[in-house]
Amino acid sequence: MADIIQLLPDHVANQIAAGEVVQRPASVVKELLENAIDAGSDHITLLVKDAGKTLIQVTDNGCGMSPTDARLSFERHATSKIKSAEDLFQLHTKGFRGEALASIAAIAQVTLKTRTPDLEVGTEISIAGSEVTAQEAAVVPVGTTIAVKNLFYNIPARRNFLKSNAVETRHIIDEFHRVALAHPQVAFKMIHNGSDVFNLPVSNGRQRIVNIFGTKTNEKLVPVSEETDIVKVEGFVMKPNFARKSRGEQFFFVNDRFIKSSYLHHAVVNAFEGLIKDGTHPGYFLFLTIAPTAIDINIHPTKTEVKFEEEHAIYSMLRATIKHSLGQFSIAPVLDFNKDSGFETPYEYSKKAPQQPNVSVDRNFNPFHSETATKAAPSFKKQSRGSWESLYAGLQDASSEATLTSSEEWLSSEKITVEKEIETESLFPKEEESVQTTFQIQNKYIVSPIKSGLMVIHQHLAHQRVLYEELLRHITVQEATSQQLLFPIELNLSNRQWGVLEPLEEALLQTGFVFEKQEKGGITVSGIPVGIPESNVAPILQQLADDLLAEVPDAGFSLNDVLAKSLARSMAVRSGTPLNKEAREHLIHQLFACKEPSVSPENKPVLITLEGTDLDAKFI
Ligand code: ADP
Ligand code: MG
Repeated sequence: MADIIQLLPDHVANQIAAGEVVQRPASVVKELLENAIDAGSDHITLLVKDAGKTLIQVTDNGCGMSPTDARLSFERHATSKIKSAEDLFQLHTKGFRGEALASIAAIAQVTLKTRTPDLEVGTEISIAGSEVTAQEAAVVPVGTTIAVKNLFYNIPARRNFLKSNAVETRHIIDEFHRVALAHPQVAFKMIHNGSDVFNLPVSNGRQRIVNIFGTKTNEKLVPVSEETDIVKVEGFVMKPNFARKSRGEQFFFVNDRFIKSSYLHHAVVNAFEGLIKDGTHPGYFLFLTIAPTAIDINIHPTKTEVKFEEEHAIYSMLRATIKHSLGQFSIAPVLDFNKDSGFETPYEYSKKAPQQPNVSVDRNFNPFHSETATKAAPSFKKQSRGSWESLYAGLQDASSEATLTSSEEWLSSEKITVEKEIETESLFPKEEESVQTTFQIQNKYIVSPIKSGLMVIHQHLAHQRVLYEELLRHITVQEATSQQLLFPIELNLSNRQWGVLEPLEEALLQTGFVFEKQEKGGITVSGIPVGIPESNVAPILQQLADDLLAEVPDAGFSLNDVLAKSLARSMAVRSGTPLNKEAREHLIHQLFACKEPSVSPENKPVLITLEGTDLDAKFI
C-alpha cells in the first residue's frame, strides 16, 4: 500500500489548534482581557459589535510591545511569560501558553496597534488567516489595541455554530465579569453596539461587586476572610436569605484567575446546609491565594480548572470559614437548622459515646502556623479535624466515600469524590414554629424544644466556648479591636504575676488589651477588648496571672491556650444573669458557628439533650 500520511498545511493545522482556544467570541474576549492585565494595564476598554461576531476590540494602557515583539506575538508558542518548564510552577500571569494571539489570528482578521513607553512611534500589524498583510510604523498611544474582526470568517461551519447574539453576549459578559471581579484595581469599560454596558472605576473588591451587580448587592454580602499556611481565602458570600433558584453569582478565583471547581463549590454549599431551602443556590465571590507551586492550572486548555495539592485541607478550611462568617454575622436563622448535619452530629455523637472528642485543642495551639510549607498541611488538617471532624470520631464506619454526579453545568459532567457528611436523622422538627422558641431557666440554662425532645444549653459554658474560639482567632490570625480607655486603669501586680504576664504581652495585645509596665511595679492598662466593662478589667487580668501561675508546672501547655481559656472564663456571661430573647438567640447562633460547640474549653459539656423517651420514662 502506498504511503498515505501527509503533513497538514500550516493554515489547516493552525485552524485546528485555534479551535481549542477559541470556541466563541467570549473566548477571544477572555484572552485579550487577560493579555491586557498581564501587560500591567490599569485602564482597559472592551468594545464589542454584534455579540463579538463582527468586532471584538480591547484597548489597554499597559506596557505595549516593540515592533519585533508585536510581530512575534502572533507566532504559536511565542510568549514573554515563561522561559522554561520550571516557570510553569511559578506563574504569576494569566497567559503562558503563547497560543492565544496565534489562534485568534488563524480564524479572524486582526489588527494590532501597540507602542512601548520608550518609543515615540508604535507599530500597526494586520493579519488574517495567519497571514500578515501589513506591518508599519504608526502613531498610537502607549499600550495596545487589538481588534478582532469577523471571527471564523474562514471557517463558515464554525461561524454557523455560534449561538444567537443574546447568548453570545451573555458569554462575553460572563468573561468580562470574571476578569473585572478579580481586578478591582483596574478600571474597565465595556461598550456593546455603541452603548456603555459597564463603566467600572478603580475600586475595592466590595465596590467592584456592587458596581457590577447593582447597589442592592451591598447589603447581601457577608465578608469571608481567613488565612492558613496553605491558602488565604477572602471575599464574600451572599446571605442565605438571598439564595436563588437559579445558579446566580458563584465565583471562585485562585490567584486572581477565575476557576471552576465542583469540589470547592461543594464545600461552600455544605457550609450553607440547613440555612437555605432545597433547590436554591448560595451566591459567593471567593478569592483564594495559594502558592503557585501548590497548584496545577495547566490541566485544561482554557485554564478554568485547577488541581490543588492540598485539596482536602482547602475544602475543610473553606467550609469552616464560611460557616463561621455566616455565624459571626448572625446570619443563621435561630434554630432553624433542620438540615445541618454538622450541627446535629454533636448530639448524635454525644448520645452514642459520652466520652470527650478525642482531639480538642492542640496544646501548642497555633493552627495557622508551622515551620515549613510541607508541614503546613498536616498542622491545618489536625486543627480542622480537631474541630468539626473530630465530632465524627468513632462514626467513621458509618461514613463512606460517596461519588457525586451532577447534571448541573456548574458541576461539570465529571465525577467527583467528596467526603460524605455523616447522615443522621434530622434533629429538628421540620415545622418552624416549634423551633423558634427559647426559654431561660434559673437564669442559667437556655432551653429549646428540638425534634427528638429538648435541648438544654449551659449559658456560661456556651459563652466560654464562643469567647475561647474568638480569642484564639484573635491571637493567631486576626487582631481584635481595642477600646481606648479615657482614664487608664492602674493595676497592682506582684513580680511573680508580672513574670507570667510579660511573655503574653503580644498575645494580650492581639486580644485588645493594651498595657504598660510601671516602674514602681504593676501595670497601666490603656486599652481593653471591646465589650468588657472597665470594672472587670482588674479581676480578669488578676485571674489570668493566677491561672498562668497555676499552670506553669505543666510542661506541655501552650500559653496562648491558657490565656484564651482564662479570659474566656472570666469574660463569659455568668450563671444568674437574665438573658432576653435576642441575647439567647445570639448566643445560640454564635455557639453553633463554633468549631466545637458541644464542649467548653475545659471539656465540660455545653449542652445536653433530653429525648422524648427520657421524658416518657418519667411518667410511668
Ligand atoms: P500568552 O499570553 O500565553 O503569553 P498570547 O498569545 O496571549 O500568549 O500573547 C503572546 C505574547 O504577546 C504575550 O506573551 C505578550 O508578550 C504579548 N502580548 C499580548 N497581548 C499584549 C498586550 N495587550 N500588551 C502587551 N503585550 C502583549
Ligand atoms: Mg495570553
